[in-house]
Amino acid sequence: MTDAHDATAPSHADRSHLADRSHLADRSHLAPADRPTVSFELFPPATNDGERRLVGTLHALEQARPDFVSVTYGASGRTRVTTRRLVSQILHTTSLTPIAHLTCVDTSRAETVAIVEEFLDAGVRSFLALRGDPPAGQVDWHPHPQGLHTAAELVELLRAVEAERCARSQAQVVRGLVKPLSVAVAAFPRGNHATGGTRADDVRALLTKQHAGADFAITQIFFDAPSYLALVAEARTAGVTIPIIPGILPATDPDRLTRVGHLAGVDPPQDLLDRLSAVDDPEARHRTGVAATADLVEAVLAGGAPGIHVYTFNQHRPALDLLAATHLGGVPRPRS
Ligand code: FAD
Repeated sequence: MTDAHDATAPSHADRSHLADRSHLADRSHLAPADRPTVSFELFPPATNDGERRLVGTLHALEQARPDFVSVTYGASGRTRVTTRRLVSQILHTTSLTPIAHLTCVDTSRAETVAIVEEFLDAGVRSFLALRGDPPAGQVDWHPHPQGLHTAAELVELLRAVEAERCARSQAQVVRGLVKPLSVAVAAFPRGNHATGGTRADDVRALLTKQHAGADFAITQIFFDAPSYLALVAEARTAGVTIPIIPGILPATDPDRLTRVGHLAGVDPPQDLLDRLSAVDDPEARHRTGVAATADLVEAVLAGGAPGIHVYTFNQHRPALDLLAATHLGGVPRPRS
């Protein structure tokens, strides 16, 4: 596994050998508007070393010209300060567009309003509104008595705070017209494991989030295209019209697959784990994982997905190799 300072990592342009791409779609002829979106998830590093490495990762990811990068927010607001710091760093030192994740569980409404104001004051215009998970293992946990209960309520609150700022100030109205507030939400192709919900429950929740003002959704990880395609089909039947972007975990590290799959309640397929574990050479294992993930990406794009959101775990190489294998890259910026 490589990190941000791995000098042996091939450049973006040199990645064509990483997977047999003969059966994959060629997207080079697509007009900018027709190209699938590309985005990445990052988390605020907990150590100085992690912060230093992330500078290199941000620079590398920037070369792929993603449509946006999202920054996670620790359960119960644990990373409130570091999430805001990373989002500000992205806003002020890169050409990337950040989306700040925000959770509301365990927080009073007044505190959530204050946090939203802080992000808006820092120039953040895009959020991923989540309920968040209650603290793990706390058996006597109760929801905050003055708190929000669902992600849909957080979407409403974000819209309400923005409306209140616009009512106060014509300058804010103009800023809102130039840079509209956008609100994304989560969706769960196999139902939400953490809350014991089924896919049908999640489709109902997604419709409520849409009614509350959500603009688009990003999914939890999944390992089979039919789960994602079934979620989209059921959501459309129920009246959900917002885009649903599939969340993709590059399958290059079998331990991570198992760990993240366990947390998300989505077991990775045993044959994929076997294929990865059977390869001793780390480079060959990386190529096997990229090729398997590229097949998943091709299947969801062929089924109509608007783009892909890659869970990077702050490592750029698997994400960029996946883009190279699937001919995906953001829309080039016009030269100034
Ligand atoms: P909600 O949509 O509020 O759902 C919570 C539960 O209520 C579900 O069981 C849902 O089915 C049910 N429900 C809600 N509304 C309805 C309704 N109208 N009808 C029926 N049932 C309903 N967690 C973090 O702590 N930090 C992060 O940064 C983070 N990022 C994430 C990013 C993505 C893309 C995803 C998919 C998840 C992320 N999570 C994160 C995890 C997420 O916070 C948890 O999965 C949490 O359990 C649910 O959040 P939610 O936004 O789906 O909540």
